Amino acid sequence: MSFARRPLVAGNWKMNGLRAALAEIDAVAAGFDPGLRERIDLLICPPATLLAAAAARLEGTGVALGGQDCHTQASGAHTGDLSAAMLADAGARFVIVGHSERRADHKESDALVLAKARAALAAGLTPIVCVGETRAEREAGKAESVVATQIAGSVPPEAPPERLVVAYEPVWAIGTGLTPTPQDVAKIHGFARRRIDALSPGKGAATRILYGGSVKPENARELLHVSDVDGALVGGASLKAKDFLAIAAAYL
Ligand code: PEP
Repeated sequence: MSFARRPLVAGNWKMNGLRAALAEIDAVAAGFDPGLRERIDLLICPPATLLAAAAARLEGTGVALGGQDCHTQASGAHTGDLSAAMLADAGARFVIVGHSERRADHKESDALVLAKARAALAAGLTPIVCVGETRAEREAGKAESVVATQIAGSVPPEAPPERLVVAYEPVWAIGTGLTPTPQDVAKIHGFARRRIDALSPGKGAATRILYGGSVKPENARELLHVSDVDGALVGGASLKAKDFLAIAAAYL
């Protein structure tokens, strides 16, 4: 495995976490011991309100921080939005773009997600571009075509592979406790890698592709050791340090 595909375990806290939850971030840092640190990258994407405080506490721990979304513009009259530069200024190194909840709740198109990913790159952040099919699309046999369209439309082809992460997150697996079989994950991750390579010739093999959707301590080993899976994007189970670290420990 090339350096660029060092496993990444990322936690997406979504709209969860008041200041008291910084104790969980401290606990993650305390549990990111040298054995684990040697093998993987660990990332927490808390709500933006906690970024600066979390950054101060994570200094020197090796645990990275990320935002959950960013605007396409660097600054301007966009009430309530946050630019990638602001996230970077608060201590983020990554930002999730195109999460299925934003694609659904805010009607985000592939073109918008692409513009956000480019804004992230311009601000020095690594975008984590999310793709994945809904249950209806899977049942209609369209999982691969949906993933192909989303990769072609929302992954910036110019991104160097070490500054790009793609997350395959089947929408029907997010927060439901359902997961695809390891065989299904291997098949679609291999497919996604070939699509990334078609978009950016030569970069597919070096781009990290995370699996996301109901990853838990109980299934982490089974899902994370599948070929072409370079880590996990974890929602619910990332809110408790103990569970998040138990998922990361799949790499020990
Ligand atoms: C997510 O929303 O990115 C996610 C993977 O959620 P969960 O782990 O809770 O399914």
